[in-house]
Amino acid sequence: MPQRAFVVARGPVRWFLLASRTVGITMPWGRVYILEPWFNDRLLRIHEIVHLRQIQREGSVRFSCRYMWWLVRFGYWANPYEVEAYRIEAAARARRGETGMPRRSKRPAGL
Ligand SMILES: [Zn+2]
Repeated sequence: MPQRAFVVARGPVRWFLLASRTVGITMPWGRVYILEPWFNDRLLRIHEIVHLRQIQREGSVRFSCRYMWWLVRFGYWANPYEVEAYRIEAAARARRGETGMPRRSKRPAGL
């Protein structure tokens, strides 16, 4: 995954993330915007890489339409794209032997 896929969120994107109480978002054009304090958060990056792979796998138009439809139909946590991303993130966390509360309870989640 090219490092240039990750950029610090600035301007309107930063405002959007703050307003939606989240710290990172993957956009259909293959770029991941992350709030500066979370920029090097490994688990967040793993989560967003899953979304990049989903976009590669399904195409950006299909991914975007399904993401929005599933968000409306199932809500954020049960959105199958998010379920997949959080499952892989949790596996990475477990491999590191991390314990404690899952990320979602500590801070707003990455989209
Ligand atoms: Zn997500």
